[in-house]
Amino acid sequence: MLEVKGIQTGIVIDHIKAGTGLIIFNKLFHTTKQPVVLLMNVNSKLLGTKDIIKMEGSHSIDVDMLGLIDENITVNFIEDNHLVKKINTGIRTRIKGGMKCDNPRCISHTDDCAIPEFTLVTEGKRMYSCSYCEERTVFKLED
Ligand SMILES: [Zn+2]
Repeated sequence: MLEVKGIQTGIVIDHIKAGTGLIIFNKLFHTTKQPVVLLMNVNSKLLGTKDIIKMEGSHSIDVDMLGLIDENITVNFIEDNHLVKKINTGIRTRIKGGMKCDNPRCISHTDDCAIPEFTLVTEGKRMYSCSYCEERTVFKLED
């Protein structure tokens, strides 16, 4: 297996479904100035193959967005070579922002202050209900 040196202090985003790592990187981390490694198609006992993102330094992580993209993702926080925190994203039941309401007349499209909140409607199908207009909106990865 490809060897990448461990991270002293930073974040490892693990168990990303193979092929999704690049999308996550482009969506969330493309502006970072810190060293980042994206590993693709790594062997995984759990998933067959997976992607991993390793980032040095401290980063604010949008766990809601990660969970929206892929509910199986694990986020590991490492300080001084020790794992200090681990988050399993899971399916997000409430989301603030992160996606757009499907209703073209929804106030969230025209009012910059109206950040839509979404509540999960059908688990597993990523269908959410908008807090402003109650339009059902399905999260789409490529938006
Ligand atoms: Zn709406």
